[in-house]
Amino acid sequence: MDATTQTSHPLMNAYTRAPVRAARGEGCYLWDEDGTRYLDFLAGVAVNALGHCHPGLVTALCDQARTLWHASNLVRMDGQDRLAGRLCSASFADAVFFTNSGSEAVDFALKLVRRYHNMNGAPGRWRTITFADGFHGRSMADIAAGGQAKLTKGYEPVVPGFDCVAFADLDAVRAATGPETAAILLEPVQGDGGVRVFPDDFVKALRQHCDDNDLLLVLDEVQTGIGRTGRFFAHEWAGVTPDIAACAKGLGAGFPLGAVLTTAAVAETVTPGSHGSTLGGNPLAMAVGNALLDVILADGFLDGLERIAQSFRTRLEDIASRHPAVIAEIRGRGLLLGLRCDEAVPNTSMLAALRNHGMLAGPAGYNVVRILPPLIITEAEVDEACRAIEAACRDLSKSA
Ligand code: PMP
Repeated sequence: MDATTQTSHPLMNAYTRAPVRAARGEGCYLWDEDGTRYLDFLAGVAVNALGHCHPGLVTALCDQARTLWHASNLVRMDGQDRLAGRLCSASFADAVFFTNSGSEAVDFALKLVRRYHNMNGAPGRWRTITFADGFHGRSMADIAAGGQAKLTKGYEPVVPGFDCVAFADLDAVRAATGPETAAILLEPVQGDGGVRVFPDDFVKALRQHCDDNDLLLVLDEVQTGIGRTGRFFAHEWAGVTPDIAACAKGLGAGFPLGAVLTTAAVAETVTPGSHGSTLGGNPLAMAVGNALLDVILADGFLDGLERIAQSFRTRLEDIASRHPAVIAEIRGRGLLLGLRCDEAVPNTSMLAALRNHGMLAGPAGYNVVRILPPLIITEAEVDEACRAIEAACRDLSKSA
């Protein structure tokens, strides 16, 4: 019996899993147990930034494993100091807190919002404005911030304090802002919500609105951060900086690692004992994060990524124009791309057709197929992906 449908299976049934049993990975490829090779443009859902088993990351992890696995945050560690310093140098941030996941990072970002206003004499400011179809993780506060019924159903009562408004609707943001409003939270590109990019002008206007109303701008860069969109952080496209950013996924490139980045004004409200994480900042994670930055922050890496992303997108637009009955629209930014399928073609059918042609991708809302390749792809992998997508479109046109 298929393990995913077996109710007595020891794994909880929280996922719809593809019929692939991952056995081994190398670079942009993943092999399943029966030896089938896939071009892995799911990349662990935008996690495997350097593909599978990148030699630099493997060496860093193995060397660290032989030296020190864990020591706790009750002692100092070079790896933490170095990674925090490099993240600050490369971004708007003055200080960093390390977590194990994106959910934990967003959850702490939301705590920081309250902490900041509370410690600055405004405890009445505690509400956060969020956007429809957001995805911010799985903690009780994160699902409330996401606001999607599929996340909160059965987990009610939902944590209070979130005011959800329509996507990129500035008037709605203004209308939702009141004396209790503390912050605005958004993903610069909604991933799970259908690969929708918030326009740069809108993000700029949000920054201004926050400044005018003493609100903190909080960005969930868990999926968009660390190079995914062609800039180190996606908010750089809009030319604004947030007060707080949560990141994870690509930062650990497959090792559990997240971080909350913030300004000195927010960070100085954090005092010993006011927050913590037993495993956050673990030496193994720090070694991987530092090795990852060696690649991502190397001269020219992000420029190269932007060029290849642009050429990939042009080719996807081309394929879409040849198969309008299958692909209705190309969305996204950098290497966070979405193919919105025509309503007659469920995205699950597209994903299955892609698998038949040796390529993995992921689902997203609004009938979108999410294409999230490793950030190290070359034109050769783009060619291969385009051939698979074209072939999948031909199959689906025949069956439509
Ligand atoms: N925020 C965003 C934008 C995400 O995409 C995710 C994960 N898909 C999360 C938060 C939660 O991250 P994690 O699964 O690591 O807890």
